[in-house]
Amino acid sequence: MAGPEDAPTSCFGNLFSAFRKNKQRPVTRAQQSTTRAAPSTAAPAYSEKLPAYEECMSQAMEQLDVKTDTEAENIVHSAIDKISTELREISLDLHSHMETGMEEYHAHDLMTDYLEKKGFTVTRHAYGMETAFTAEYSRGEGKRVGFCSEYDGLPGLGQGCGHNLIAISGLAAAVGLKALLENGRASGKVILFGTPAEELSIGKIILVQKEAFQKTVDVCLMLHPAAYHADKAGMIAVNDVHVRFYGKASHASAAPWEGVNALDAMVQLWNNISMMRQQLMPTDRVHGVVEDGGKAPNVIPDYTSAFFFIRTTKYQQIGRLMEKMEACFNAAALATGCKVEWTWRPIGVTKDVVQNSVFAANYVKHMKKFGVEFLSHAEQEKAAGGSTDFGNTSYVVPSIHPMYGIHTDAANHTIEFTAAARTPQAHEDTIIASKCISMTGAQVLLDDAFYQAVKADWEKTVPPEERH
Ligand SMILES: [Zn+2]
Ligand SMILES: [Zn+2]
Repeated sequence: MAGPEDAPTSCFGNLFSAFRKNKQRPVTRAQQSTTRAAPSTAAPAYSEKLPAYEECMSQAMEQLDVKTDTEAENIVHSAIDKISTELREISLDLHSHMETGMEEYHAHDLMTDYLEKKGFTVTRHAYGMETAFTAEYSRGEGKRVGFCSEYDGLPGLGQGCGHNLIAISGLAAAVGLKALLENGRASGKVILFGTPAEELSIGKIILVQKEAFQKTVDVCLMLHPAAYHADKAGMIAVNDVHVRFYGKASHASAAPWEGVNALDAMVQLWNNISMMRQQLMPTDRVHGVVEDGGKAPNVIPDYTSAFFFIRTTKYQQIGRLMEKMEACFNAAALATGCKVEWTWRPIGVTKDVVQNSVFAANYVKHMKKFGVEFLSHAEQEKAAGGSTDFGNTSYVVPSIHPMYGIHTDAANHTIEFTAAARTPQAHEDTIIASKCISMTGAQVLLDDAFYQAVKADWEKTVPPEERH
């Protein structure tokens, strides 16, 4: 058992210490957006013994003794129940009128009009983005709780990630907290961020760069629908790169020796990456598409291009993979005599999500009252693979991004999930999860000791130099 000084939050800190010890080198702002990466060191080891999560959790809950305020719960729940029908209409509207990232004009107008009618102070086109917004309500002095809504869809799939449900979960959570503030049961502020282009991993990165979260909220919470319930869903870091090879065109049959084949460079690159995979960590990911493979079979291609995503469990490791990729690019160019250029995403790396353990425990406690079963944390870790720009939010304020099940077996980003995202059952599931995330946010306003524990967990898991 940990000593009194270790409990409760350093216990959580230990959960993450392996990552910190194995840290390669931080990706600086400059590295995030440029083509060079510094040399890597040894690969991370997975041998460290971590304390049992449940042990940590029970210590924390004993220390915190978080009591549910039933009166507050009733206020939040009934405020959300009251708007459930309106939220259903908004959800179906967003499902029928899917818009892709940075083009969510209809969603922006629909949601901001609704929030204004509900008495929030709304800022449209916030932070220089046409389809971003904020809606806030405050009463008296107190903590400031943020929630996020997303509303963009996927080309060809519609709402294949269920962002119509995320949109209304943000509305519900914010309305729940507003009711609590109006009722005089709490003081402080609630802010809903309307965050565009999650599928392009843009909106929240811009918001972080403009210090939207850092300056306006103490914590930030959001939900995401899935096929399962996960309070600490693993969401990993991602960067992307555009690669271009330049060769020399020539008649492919009459004078191939006159040409420099940019498609050969691309094939070579593909092979380099395929071979590199064997030496990657099992949790690393590299995947991509050829965007331009040449124009005609009888012309030696003088130009080819590809687009890759690379992912690691923690963003601090992404530089290791960037360096390996760059070696593959250069090797392919050298072998074929082509020139090569590449561009890492200018906006920077999408970070992994730092799920706040204190928030997670509280959210689980609320969800269990509705009979919800969660995946084990080992299963949650195994299910990791997706990424979200909310990761960047989680490095600047204490955050949580649980996945909640909507009674489907379908994976996100499938046509089956698109269908699941508009069922009455998915709506009911969203209402329940929204009540729970709203109450977890409410706890910050109701109980300073809870907030202090949330903050302490975050400070232990995100070192000061990484809070950007
Ligand atoms: Zn998605
Ligand atoms: Zn999504």
